[in-house]
Amino acid sequence: MLKLYNSLTRTKEDFVPIDPDNVRLYACGPTVYDYAHIGNARMAVVFDLLRTVLSGLYPNVTYVSNITDIDDKIMKAAAEQGVPIKEITEKYTQIYNEDLDALGVEEPDIQPKATEHVDDMIAYIEALIADNYAYEAEGHVLFHVPAFPKYGGLSGRSRDDQIAGARVEVAPFKKDPADFVLWKPSSDDQPGWDSPWGRGRPGWHIECSAMSAQHLGLPFDIHGGGADLKFPHHENEIAQSVCAHGHPDDLSSFAKFWVHNGFLTVEGEKMSKSLGNFTLTHDLLEQGVEGEAIRLAMLSAHYRQPLDWTKDKVEQSKKTLDRFYGILISQLDANVQPGVFSDDFLNAIYDDLNTPKAIAELHALAKDIEKDPDDIEGLSAFVNGGLLLGLFYNDPEEWLAPKETTLDEAYILEQIAARQSAKDKKDFTLSDKIRDDLAAQGIVLKDSPDGTSWSVE
Ligand SMILES: [Zn+2]
Repeated sequence: MLKLYNSLTRTKEDFVPIDPDNVRLYACGPTVYDYAHIGNARMAVVFDLLRTVLSGLYPNVTYVSNITDIDDKIMKAAAEQGVPIKEITEKYTQIYNEDLDALGVEEPDIQPKATEHVDDMIAYIEALIADNYAYEAEGHVLFHVPAFPKYGGLSGRSRDDQIAGARVEVAPFKKDPADFVLWKPSSDDQPGWDSPWGRGRPGWHIECSAMSAQHLGLPFDIHGGGADLKFPHHENEIAQSVCAHGHPDDLSSFAKFWVHNGFLTVEGEKMSKSLGNFTLTHDLLEQGVEGEAIRLAMLSAHYRQPLDWTKDKVEQSKKTLDRFYGILISQLDANVQPGVFSDDFLNAIYDDLNTPKAIAELHALAKDIEKDPDDIEGLSAFVNGGLLLGLFYNDPEEWLAPKETTLDEAYILEQIAARQSAKDKKDFTLSDKIRDDLAAQGIVLKDSPDGTSWSVE
């Protein structure tokens, strides 16, 4: 029996699907205007794992994760670059999926785009207005929070907290300071859609309510996302969905389980652009970090715990995988039995996806196999466990092959000399750029008192 921590009830519960023939899962996807940071990747890895675990237990799982392709940040990026928003959103959607593919994340069954569901959102908003949960004001449509007394039930935040926490000035047309936007007007030079309230665009929260209902039906089993989305995004999704579907007294009439993955810090600090520690999955991959090592590092902490992203953790994961692939390559001809798992491994996974414990069990199995290479049952449990975690998707021979580079050694040495000369002139922008350019080509530099050496990573 799978147990999951349900943020809505704040307890670990037995997972019982609404329809055992089709388990339905939704997770909030990215807003595509830039490269995704590793916090986004953590979310994708966690729900990819959850989907795999559910797929092992039930015949069908439908996993929907949206793409937010209309948003003020996207519009700003498009205006700055002088291109249509589609050019930005298509580019970054593709990069997002490619980068996650490198982490062994399978694409969702359905990846709906907000811009393709504006009609659904308009219908949703009309239903909310008809039942007096929403109102139109100056080309905007707002959800009226006081009309929904159960507001705040997921995050435990009161309406007053929310108002006190709001940093932006309250728009004069709001009936209540807590009211939030469902629709807003677009100027002629902004992307927009015709609606009963004039040309405009949807607010962010309504996207997920409309797209999850459209593709999964209500109620569905599990709604997921990062803990940072709990308030206000998920709170607002619940408000819209349960009110539009006529169950304002039952918060679970939208999704039964709410699963949230924890925050991510980088070397002990909050990740932020101003601290200069903003870490992009794309950059890590370009620097030659193996996607599978990133995945294992992400799973090394329990999904609900904060994850501190450190260089050390990734290197450790790489070493672990070197060991695991060493076992796989020595057992290429072994007759691995499908469906064989160790009890300790499965118990850990079924206990709210306790991946640190499951990984510890893989280490224990690895140790046993190293002692007794003929233990097929142990080997099978090891291989199947790794596969369930979404690991072992690389070719063992390729993984263990010594790394080579197609770059000319003379060129690399030239670059190292150019970097040294930039450093001597205190042009650190240039010296960093040379180092990063080499890293992007798989060459890692190591500085020591004796000078700079290089290796292929
Ligand atoms: Zn959402």
